[in-house]
Amino acid sequence: MAILDNVSETISKVARNIAKGTNKVVESSKVSIDLLEKKDDLKDKYAEIGKLLADCDDKEIIEKLDVADKINEIRALSNEIVELKIKLSELKNTKKCPDCGANISKNSAYCNVCGSKII
Ligand SMILES: [Zn+2]
Repeated sequence: MAILDNVSETISKVARNIAKGTNKVVESSKVSIDLLEKKDDLKDKYAEIGKLLADCDDKEIIEKLDVADKINEIRALSNEIVELKIKLSELKNTKKCPDCGANISKNSAYCNVCGSKII
C-alpha cells in the first residue's frame, strides 16, 4: 500500500517539524528568561557599586568621578523614602473619627480631638 506508506511518512514528517518548532519555542523562552535574569543580575551589580560609591566618604574619589550631585540626589531620595514609610505606617495605624474626621490611633476608644466614643 504505497499510498498509505506515503501518508504515514508525511504525517511523521509533519510531526517531526512540529516537534522541532515546539523545541524552538521552548528554547527561545528559556533563552529569554536567561536574558532577563542576566540583565537583572547586571542591574544588581551596578546598584551594588552605586551603593558603595554613595556610602563612600572619600571626597577625592567623589570629585574624581564627578558624582557629588548624584550622591546628593540619592540621599534626598533615601530621606523621602524614610518619610513616606513613616507616613504609610501612620496611615495604617490610624483611622478617621466618624464625627470630626481627625486621624486617631487605630486602637483608640475615644477621639482625642472631639472626645467622641469610637465604635
Ligand atoms: Zn473626633
